[in-house]
Formats: sequence, C-alpha cells, structure tokens
Amino acid sequence: GHQHFRPEIDRGALRKILLDSLTAETVVWDSHFVTMQAKGLGWALQFKNGTSAYADLVIAADGANSKIRPYITDIEPFYSGILMLEGNVYDAVNKIPQVHKLLAGGKIMAFGNKQDLLIGQKGNGEVGFYASFKAEEGWSKNSGIDYSDNAAVLAWFKQKYAEWDSLWYELFENASTPFIPRPIYCMPLDHNWEAQPNVTMLGDAAHVMPPFAGEGVNMAMLDALELSELLTSDNCANIHEAITIYETNMRKRASVIAKESLDNGERMHSENSLNTMVGFFSGH
Ligand SMILES: Cc1cc2nc3c(=O)[nH]c(=O)nc-3n(C[C@H](O)[C@H](O)[C@H](O)COP(=O)(O)OP(=O)(O)OC[C@H]3O[C@@H](n4cnc5c(N)ncnc54)[C@H](O)[C@@H]3O)c2cc1C
Repeated sequence: GHQHFRPEIDRGALRKILLDSLTAETVVWDSHFVTMQAKGLGWALQFKNGTSAYADLVIAADGANSKIRPYITDIEPFYSGILMLEGNVYDAVNKIPQVHKLLAGGKIMAFGNKQDLLIGQKGNGEVGFYASFKAEEGWSKNSGIDYSDNAAVLAWFKQKYAEWDSLWYELFENASTPFIPRPIYCMPLDHNWEAQPNVTMLGDAAHVMPPFAGEGVNMAMLDALELSELLTSDNCANIHEAITIYETNMRKRASVIAKESLDNGERMHSENSLNTMVGFFSGH
C-alpha cells in the first residue's frame, strides 16, 4: 500500500489472532520466568510456579524489562525524559460524549507547551488516552498522586495543563482506575553484542523504544518472522549462524526506527510542538 497507509488494530484483537494461529498447548500459561542455567548445549529454565523446563534455544520475548536480556548483554535501556500517564474509558459514547464526538472514530493528538494529550478510539467502544509530558525519571513515585482517585488525577491535570480547555476533564473524571504512569525508555541506538549459539531476543526485550513512531509492535512481529525464517532456512549452517544474521539485521533496522521514535518524541514535546507537528503531518 501507500507508504503512509497505517492500519490500526486493538492489542486484544491482534493477540487473539496470533494465539488462534497456534496449535493448542503451544503457550504454557502462568509460567513466570525466574532464572536459567546453561546445561549441555541448551538451558535449564526455572519458573515462579515451581516448574522447570529444558530448552535447546531460548528466545526472549519478555518485553522492556526482560529477565533474559542479561544473559545476552548487560546493555540497559535509558530513560527518554518523557512520561505517559495512561487512562481508559469504557462506554465512551455515553461517558465522554464531547471527546467521543471529536474523535469521530479516529485519533486526537493535542499539542501544548511540552505536553500533549493523545487519544484513540478502540474497536469495542472504549477510548484510550495518554497525558504525555516531560518529567523526571522518578515522577511516577514522587508525584504524590493517588492514581486510583479520579478527582486527584483531574486536580493534577487542571494544574499541570492549566491553559487547556475544560473539554478534556471528562476523560479524567470517567477513566477506569488506576491510571498507569509509563516512563518511556529506549535501548541505546548503537547497542551491540556477540551472538550466542542458543539464546536470543526479540521485540521490546531487544529494542524497547518510545512509541512515537507507532512501530513497536510492527518491529516485534517482524523480528519474530525474520528469526523464524532464518531458523528454518537451509541456508544457515546452524542455529548460531541464524541468530548472528538475525541479530545483525534486527539491530540495524531497530536503531533506525528508534531514532525516528526519539526524534518524534522531541518534536511532540517541544515548546512549539503544535506548529512543528502540523508541518510534520502536512508532509504526509
Ligand atoms: C504508552 C505506550 C504506548 C504504545 N503505543 C504503541 C502503538 O500505538 N503502536 C505500537 O506498535 N506500539 C506501541 N507501543 C509499544 C508496544 O507496546 C511494544 O513495542 C510491544 O508491546 C512489544 O511487544 P513485546 O512482545 O516485545 O513485549 P510486550 O508486549 O511487553 O510483551 C512481553 C510479554 O512478556 C511477559 N513477561 C514479562 N516478563 C516475564 C517473565 N519473567 N516470565 C514470563 N513472561 C514474562 C509479559 O507479561 C508480556 O506478556 C507502546 C508502548 C507504550 C509504553
């Protein structure tokens, strides 16, 4: 399609499609990874529920705070300087009629002075939103806000977004609680490590990045596709070679998108973000 064609899907719906494509019992639920030890040519894994497993190959897909990443590299994500306070409103048509009407089934990106409101209609009548702003890394704990109290979060919004219209208040009054503060992290763009023969990683575990290019899930799915193709390819002599090729391509690809995400984050949270972003989108 067109290079700027960007179809959207809710997380839950995508998750269902992916799970339904697997044979039964492929996913073993309630298995929180705790630790693993090298054993023979593979790994002995231990889970919180007391079970254990042996694997020839471990593929970490356990997200930004991966517990398996340290077995591959000691590189860690850095804080981007931006925090997104997440809220969600059920039955949006009745609960937040003004914002719902403005949304018209799409998205709103409202830009102010170094602070934004990003709002999106979901497929099931819910509306998800983020108050996105520059903040110190410890803001989530230090803000003193009770995230389970709509009135407390609204009071914070009125003070922090003081020049913003009262139109937005219904979001904070009607969101289900708790609100979730999400400090945004990014893996260093030049991160590198030596490929191992029997453990690798994909998605946010390998390259968490700010969500301001909307590419996180695309990257994770492309990682999985490329890795699976290499692991089953006759052109790779062994698993180690497949992992080496996969990781080299993945890092290169992800660092380009991570740079774009960081740059977009700066644009969206700059002093002049409204004009900057209008200019940005008029080129698309
Ligand atoms: C505020 C915000 C907004 C975003 N918006 C978008 C967007 O609009 N579009 C987009 O494409 N991306 C977006 N992203 C990024 C996107 O969410 C991630 O890139 C994507 O979820 C990465 O997928 P993943 O499977 O690698 O990791 P995750 O989705 O984090 O999945 C990791 C899984 O591993 C499990 N897990 C963690 N630890 C363990 C353990 N020890 N043992 C067992 N299981 C474990 C977790 O429960 C989870 O199910 C956003 C991110 C944030 C923070």
